Amino acid sequence: MPSKFSLEGFIVEISSGRCLKKPNSITVEAFNPEGLKDLVEVLALKFPPAKATYSKEWSCLTIKMLDRLVGMYASGKITLCADDMEDAKGVLKTLKELIKEAKEDLKIGGPPSVKDIEVWSKLTPLELYKYLPKTNCRKCDESTCIAFAAKVLSGERKLRDCLPLRHSEELVGKLEEFLGKRILNALGWLKDN
Ligand code: SF4
Repeated sequence: MPSKFSLEGFIVEISSGRCLKKPNSITVEAFNPEGLKDLVEVLALKFPPAKATYSKEWSCLTIKMLDRLVGMYASGKITLCADDMEDAKGVLKTLKELIKEAKEDLKIGGPPSVKDIEVWSKLTPLELYKYLPKTNCRKCDESTCIAFAAKVLSGERKLRDCLPLRHSEELVGKLEEFLGKRILNALGWLKDN
């Protein structure tokens, strides 16, 4: 296998023995030829806050996805560990789709504002709880609204699973004002996410 080759539209380099959790895994360093300069923040806001960490200082995003951590840099560099080439190909295919979606988002909605990034990165269960119905009705199958809020932020539940919220125009309006559409969608407000 050549040291650098093309896979799913990325320029890829493979090495081994560098993944601490799984020593038998391969390390994939992929490079997106167009870079990711304007996309890193858009990509961050596609995930609930507990699934992604963004550093403005390093222009770097770390995402928990497909049972691993994926690092994405504004330079276009992407790093991840994979079980084998087939696994690497699958992850890169998913990332290619994600980048395509982020490009569309950027075209339609422009770059996220400083406020968007601030709200997203500091969002806590308690903060989200303030905008839920706070009745502990259990219609979402969680014992309390705060438990539901925590699971929404960790990506285990979708915000739309709270039916009373969906039926309250007032609360939805307040949430939209506080979070903005992008973050609402990252928390599972839309049907197709
Ligand atoms: S369905 Fe909504 S209001 Fe009812 S417990 Fe769950 S989060 Fe709270």
